[in-house]
Amino acid sequence: MAGLPTPNWLTEIHQDAGSAFSLQTVKLLAEVQSPFQLVQVFETTDWGNFMIIDGCTMVSTRDNFLYHEMMTHPALFGHANPQHVAIIGGGDCGTLREVLRHPDIKSVTQIDIDEQVTIMARQYFPELCESNDDPRATLLFDDGIQWMKDVAPESLDIIIVDSTDPIGPGEGLFNRAFYQSCLAALKPGGVLVQQSESPLLHVDLLCQMRQAMSDAGFGALQTLQFPQPIYPSGWWSCTHAVKGTEFAEPRWQDAQNRPFDSLYYSEQTHQGAMALPPYLLKAFAAE
Ligand code: SAM
Repeated sequence: MAGLPTPNWLTEIHQDAGSAFSLQTVKLLAEVQSPFQLVQVFETTDWGNFMIIDGCTMVSTRDNFLYHEMMTHPALFGHANPQHVAIIGGGDCGTLREVLRHPDIKSVTQIDIDEQVTIMARQYFPELCESNDDPRATLLFDDGIQWMKDVAPESLDIIIVDSTDPIGPGEGLFNRAFYQSCLAALKPGGVLVQQSESPLLHVDLLCQMRQAMSDAGFGALQTLQFPQPIYPSGWWSCTHAVKGTEFAEPRWQDAQNRPFDSLYYSEQTHQGAMALPPYLLKAFAAE
């Protein structure tokens, strides 16, 4: 009887989309209710370890490179001279590792509200945490919304919001007030990057985010799309917003000559990620 779920199948139901995603598990490795959220890590048969927060998929060993590379390298090669970066959320540390692959980066401050996520990432996703002790990295465990209000104006080149979905502690990371704090924290020409959910299932949310970024004063927006099998619909996006009137031309030559190996990112996949289907362009044109 192939195809029928068994007790070893872990299923995330996407109620609003009438769909679900399942992975075959071997066992539950750890489960901790932190003051903020329920964090679980499972061993799976084919996807390595798998982290879930409050029932929502976060990271798998097998496919996280897609998300982490595309949350970082297009923005870093899209900025003329990025040196100072903040990551809001990102507690699994995969985004931090990718940012630190860029030798010209001078500082990265990561602010995740929940230290428990990083404690469990260190144990079950050690490869994602291999740059945590880089002298350029500072890991803080605090509310990213408040941190962004307090940080020195015009002190950052890139802000990457690698957050949970807009529910629970992540909710306030998706609104105009937060984006205004980000705008104030960025230097001229600085870029905000935020994971912006599924370009198939969450078009309304994507449009609301883009509208809130524009309302906050960002001058131009660019949504990029890429595959991410473990997230709802298997297709994901991030949105870039620039402090200025237009984006700089990406440093394509530097992207081509990047001094590190990447599994998904290349100048070609970067260009491909910027190509959006007509229905999305139409939705964004109506903003
Ligand atoms: N890649 C994932 C995704 O798209 O679903 C996100 C991964 S990362 C583990 C998300 C992190 O955001 C979590 O560790 C959570 O603690 C953090 N987070 C949620 N709300 C936050 C807030 N207000 N300030 C800082 N971090 C926050």
